[in-house]
Amino acid sequence: MAKAAIDVKQAAALAVANRILYNEGVVDGFGHVSVRDARHADRFLLARSMAPGLVTPKDIMQFDLAGMAIEPRGRAVYLERFIHGSIYKARPDVMAVVHSHSPSIIPFGITPQKLRPVYHMSGFLGDDVPIFDIHEVAGDTDLLVSSVALGDALARALGGNIVALMRGHGSVAAGQTLQHAVYRAVYAEINARLQSEALKLGPVKYLTPGEARATKATLDKALSRAYELWARRVGTKG
Ligand code: MN
Repeated sequence: MAKAAIDVKQAAALAVANRILYNEGVVDGFGHVSVRDARHADRFLLARSMAPGLVTPKDIMQFDLAGMAIEPRGRAVYLERFIHGSIYKARPDVMAVVHSHSPSIIPFGITPQKLRPVYHMSGFLGDDVPIFDIHEVAGDTDLLVSSVALGDALARALGGNIVALMRGHGSVAAGQTLQHAVYRAVYAEINARLQSEALKLGPVKYLTPGEARATKATLDKALSRAYELWARRVGTKG
């Protein structure tokens, strides 16, 4: 059995990401963020079951891709940890995942209105934003992704995309780094709010697919500026 040593820097960065997501209004008492283990590609780091805004490095645990804690030590774990393992299993390019119930996104998971990029900060929504409807795969449930089978179904719905909505529940956002996943979770929520506002005023002119690609390419390289500010707001340098 390999040692469960957790990279100290990675655990510290993940704790900061948790607090940023709380501070920016993406997660509240619920929701979580994970990062693929830098030392073991078949493991990920995730806080023990607790409010994200309170996470410190010592709360970070290590899991395998089936959602089993490597060293549980009696700690409570998130019921929906399978979301993370299944996405890392299906997507070798994904290094971080945010799962949230951020409120402005919810209407787009329960109506025919698609979540689409309305401005340059959210060009990453330009590819499809699929909807995972847990009822289609499991009938009546508590809507939680509480097994490997449900995690795998969610990962299938996400496909090669960056964001997937979860009908009547929330969303997932994936990234090639922790910063990318956090940035996308923050701006998916802001985009949803703006899109809802715009739809009240009249027909919406969305970014074209070409604009979405171009703005995504630019922001993917520039988002550390926003991240530094968010990290400062939670009292760290990220
Ligand atoms: Mn949830």
